[in-house]
Amino acid sequence: MSENKRTEIGELGEFALIDKITEGVEIHHKTTVKGIGDDAAVFDYGGDEYTVLSTDILLEGIHFDLSFMPLQHLGYKAIAVNVSDVAAMNAIPEQVTVSIAITNRFSVEAVDMIYQGIKAACKNYKVDLVGGDTTSSRQGLCISVTAVGRVKKDKIAYRSGAKKGDILCVSGDLGGAYMGLQVLLREKKVFEANPEMQPNLEDYQYIAGRQLRPEARTDIIHEFNELGIVPTSMIDISDGLASEVLHICKDSKVGAVVYEDKLPVDHQTFDVCHEFKIPSKTPALNGGEDYELLFTIKQEDFPKVEKHASIFFIGYIDEAENGARLVTEGQQTLPLTAQGWKHF
Ligand code: ADP
Ligand code: MG
Repeated sequence: MSENKRTEIGELGEFALIDKITEGVEIHHKTTVKGIGDDAAVFDYGGDEYTVLSTDILLEGIHFDLSFMPLQHLGYKAIAVNVSDVAAMNAIPEQVTVSIAITNRFSVEAVDMIYQGIKAACKNYKVDLVGGDTTSSRQGLCISVTAVGRVKKDKIAYRSGAKKGDILCVSGDLGGAYMGLQVLLREKKVFEANPEMQPNLEDYQYIAGRQLRPEARTDIIHEFNELGIVPTSMIDISDGLASEVLHICKDSKVGAVVYEDKLPVDHQTFDVCHEFKIPSKTPALNGGEDYELLFTIKQEDFPKVEKHASIFFIGYIDEAENGARLVTEGQQTLPLTAQGWKHF
C-alpha cells in the first residue's frame, strides 16, 4: 500500500480486513495447532486433549441497543456467543474471562445487573468466570469475553474437514434472531414517536428471545459425544447461514448445495416475515445471530441423527469446482452468496 493511499474499511469488508491485518503473523510455538481462521484457536499442551480459545467483543450501538436490550440478557448473551464459538470446535467450555468498559452513565446497580446475566450464563453452561478487566469508557458500553474449552484430539471439528458427499446439517431454526431485531427496532420507533405507546411484544416472544437471549448449543456437543458422532466440519451461525456455508466451502476446499425448502424456519419467524413482506428464507439465509451450529456429517452417520428433533438436513457437500449453490423453492439453482458486512 502506498503511503498516501487511504482505503476505506467498508471497501474491504470484515473478512478481507482480518486477512490483511493478520498477514505475516508468525507462530512461535509447537503448542499452537491452529491460530487465526477458525471459531477458536487450538492448543496442544500434551495428553489426549486440545485446549481451545475464542474471544468476542460486544459494543453498544453496534451489537446491542440498550433501549431494548435488558442488562441481564446482555450479560447472558456475551457469555453465550463465546461459548458458542467453543462449541463450534466440538469442545466443552470450562473458563471465561470478562472485560468491561463502562461510562459514568451506568450505576453500580446497572453493572450488577449485567453480572447477574453473566453469572446465570456461567451457571447454565457450567463455565467458571476466572478473571477479566474493568475500565471506564468515554462513550458506550463494551463487553469482551474470552472462553476456553477442551476437546479430545480425535473429536475436534474444524471448518476445514468437510468432504464431498457429507451431509450439511443445522441444529435449529434460522432467521428468528434477525426478525426479532426487526420487531424490536419497529417497537422502538413507535415508542420514540409516542412514549405513551408501550411496546407490544406478546406475539413475538420467541423471536425477541432469539435476539436478546440466544443459547449456545453445548447440548448438541454432548449429544455428538453420546451418539459417537464427530462432525467432519463445524461453525456456529453468527453471521448468517450463507456466509457460514461459504466459510466451510472455502476452508474445506469443497462446494456445497443448499436446498432453500429444507431451511428450518419457526412459525413465528414465518408470520413476522409475512408482516414485513419479506420472503421467510431471506433471514434464514442471511439473518445471523441465531447461534445454531452448522456442521457436516459423513453419510454413514446419518442413521444416528436421522430422527433427531432439532437437527435439520439442508444440503450436501459437493466438489469445489461446482462452487456453493442454492436450490431455491422454485427449483432454480443459483450461486449461494452472502450479504456484506453491516458494521461499517
Ligand atoms: P467468529 O465469527 O467465529 O467469532 P471471526 O469471523 O470474528 O470469527 O474471526 C475469524 C478469525 O479471525 C478467528 O480466528 C479470529 O480469532 C480471527 N481474528 C478476528 N479479528 C482478529 C484480529 N483483530 N486480530 C487477529 N485475529 C483476528
Ligand atoms: Mg464462530
